[in-house]
Amino acid sequence: MGQMMALKVDLKSIEGEGEFPCPSCGIIISPDDESEKTYKIVYVERFDDDIPKRVTIICKKCHKTIILEGFEPLKNE
Ligand SMILES: [Zn+2]
Repeated sequence: MGQMMALKVDLKSIEGEGEFPCPSCGIIISPDDESEKTYKIVYVERFDDDIPKRVTIICKKCHKTIILEGFEPLKNE
């Protein structure tokens, strides 16, 4: 155990607009923020219908790898 030290965040367990604190250092990460100021996306795995299944990011403050899961399909309203 413990070789894969990636932290996991389930977006379904997050309330509000999807922002969450880094599980390691606590900096607020917003998945909608594409400026890459607080995090960098390294890998996106998608379902067949293009919905992200698993997104791997690196926190720019603590440099930990964080895996995001639990994306909801975007609703067109
Ligand atoms: Zn961090």
